Amino acid sequence: MFSAIPIQSISNELTPHFKGSIDVLRLDKLHTIVSGNKWFKLNRYLTEAKAKGFDTIATFGGAYSNHIVATAYAAKLMDIQALGVIRGERPILHSHTLQNALDYGMKLQFVSRDDYRAKKALQDRIDPLGELYWISEGGYGCLGADGIRDLFKSAPLWQYTHILTAVGTGTTMAGLIKGAYPYQQIIGVSVLKNQKTLLSEIQALLTEEEKLKNYLLLHEQHWGGYAKKSPALLDFMNKVYQIVKLPLDFVYTAKAFYALVEMLAMTELPRDSRILFIHTGGLQGNLSLEKGSLLF
Ligand SMILES: *Cc1c(COP(=O)(O)O)cnc(C)c1O
Repeated sequence: MFSAIPIQSISNELTPHFKGSIDVLRLDKLHTIVSGNKWFKLNRYLTEAKAKGFDTIATFGGAYSNHIVATAYAAKLMDIQALGVIRGERPILHSHTLQNALDYGMKLQFVSRDDYRAKKALQDRIDPLGELYWISEGGYGCLGADGIRDLFKSAPLWQYTHILTAVGTGTTMAGLIKGAYPYQQIIGVSVLKNQKTLLSEIQALLTEEEKLKNYLLLHEQHWGGYAKKSPALLDFMNKVYQIVKLPLDFVYTAKAFYALVEMLAMTELPRDSRILFIHTGGLQGNLSLEKGSLLF
């Protein structure tokens, strides 16, 4: 399904003291709406659902969820029905995200925030007979991580000493850890505030051996919490776009890229590192920003 994934080399204008190299794996280029990492995460779930004879998959998400729209699209491609269970009351006007999901043929069911929190009970109520194939929120799980590990087959990840990604559920980071070579360090930048269980959730997807590999999870780069933004963050995104022509999203990749620039400014990585930043996509989320906030 994927032809070569573009790799963009970034000049050192943003990080003048750094003498190594920075490349970006442009998973965002795989599709304008669907986040690149979500493809890889969903692939094996959908394959399993079909192999087990399910005709519908179901999953959870918010009104701006990259995972919801990616699931809708992937299900359409794989010719399987999809149900999205959405947090909150049905809005009068759908977000771009939900409208795209509907356009891809996903059915949406809106549930109150309280119901949404109790996912197991909710799932039993919606699907008492177990007729749906459920994928957890954000695609968290072993099959998701295994799908990300497949990236090592689709792109020359072996070339790099450090691989960086934004972290939500941690499934992407877990998959990168699984695939990592002994000379590589995987760095994850959490976009969640106070998510103290994140590291153990990532490790729950790893074998004992994989747990001993070299990885680092940064917790302090969330800019106030999930999907929180400030003029400074938008300025940073515009600056990165102007200088190195890299479009970022404000929920995930901008915060992760900022963390990278900061690490390099503080010389926290060896000067000759060969760094790969995974652009996980999410650009559709920028549509929720006020018009004119971004130069791209
Ligand atoms: C979902 C998402 C992530 C986080 O992936 P996890 O596997 O949940 O950690 C990162 N970036 C973008 C753009 C995403 O949509």
